[in-house]
Amino acid sequence: MFSGGINLGKLFGISIKIDWSWFFIFLLVTWQLAVGVFPSLQPEWNTIIHWLMAILASLMFFGSVLAHELAHSLMAKVRGLPVRRITLFLFGGVSNLEREPASPLTEFLVTIVGPITSFVLGGLFLYISSTLAGDIAIEGLSATQFLAGLGPFASLFLWLGSINILLAVFNLVPGFPLDGGRVLRSILWAVTGNLKRSTRLASMVGQGIAWVFIIAGIAMAFGFAIPPFQPSLIGGLWLAFIGWFLNMAAAQSYQQVVIRDLLEGVNVERLMRREPPIVSPYTEINHLVDDFIMRTDEHAFPVVDEDRLVGIICLDDVRKVPRSEWEHKQVGDVMTPYERLEFVGPREDAMEAFQRIQSRDIRQLPVIDRGELVGLLRRRDILKWLELQQ
Ligand SMILES: [Zn+2]
Repeated sequence: MFSGGINLGKLFGISIKIDWSWFFIFLLVTWQLAVGVFPSLQPEWNTIIHWLMAILASLMFFGSVLAHELAHSLMAKVRGLPVRRITLFLFGGVSNLEREPASPLTEFLVTIVGPITSFVLGGLFLYISSTLAGDIAIEGLSATQFLAGLGPFASLFLWLGSINILLAVFNLVPGFPLDGGRVLRSILWAVTGNLKRSTRLASMVGQGIAWVFIIAGIAMAFGFAIPPFQPSLIGGLWLAFIGWFLNMAAAQSYQQVVIRDLLEGVNVERLMRREPPIVSPYTEINHLVDDFIMRTDEHAFPVVDEDRLVGIICLDDVRKVPRSEWEHKQVGDVMTPYERLEFVGPREDAMEAFQRIQSRDIRQLPVIDRGELVGLLRRRDILKWLELQQ
């Protein structure tokens, strides 16, 4: 029901959304630049300049990540894949493609333009930085002295250029679902002709790399030097954390492909529960608990008034009402009203519906046909179907 984030509007017909977790990263990056990176490079600047440059750098970094994602999405559109939205979250962005690419070539092209964009931006920013730096005599200066001689904007672009190149390199790590893993999958797919097997291989490689990250990170945190890095507690923990995240993402995206395979060509109608028990909005909560919730194994009941679906009531809604008020409140007072409901049509794709159930973390979707309730698609019915085939 509540998918966290802020909509920024549309670009090229694609809605751009920022996940809440992104604000956390924004603050972290700005803070680290303002009190760590810039002061150590440029001790001469005053604190206000440090902070202004840090905020500007974070915003431009955000713009760079967005450009990377837009490159994926625009290429997807060119190759005929519909793109609904781009979500910018903790570790960058995710372009929500509505389905898997139709061919290895499409996947390769859609993927590779992202890192290329980051490389180009990185090169461009480094070039701007060197132009702004003008002709500082490099001879006889140490790296620190050279960097300290840069003006605010030259330093800003130096950082932006380096971070974009780092972004490109990190994304090219061949662990699915990172860009590098997708490139690997597209090549395996072209060779074997089998999407599922290629995904499994790419995600196994991804998990392997993730474990290398985790182990190297833990070793670094305990004081071992992992070339080219120095031993560092914070650096090591970061590396391990990124590894843990990659491992999870690799496993999940493989699972998605398996599920997609098992739900292939199945529509909602086949999996939904027909004629689910319904309640009236005027039913007292006491009555709902005794005669519906405790008498069936349902978690949610569609609320119908004069043959019209007006909402849904589930265990969570009832839980919010103190027991002393059960006899004073009616279903209509505490249900999720129609306007806030998600629903599906009987002929919609079951995979599509399942993804909506997963992403919104709900247990069921009412199935509506021409404005009428025809069934209830429950998560556990989909899981039962998946169980039948595993
Ligand atoms: Zn990418």
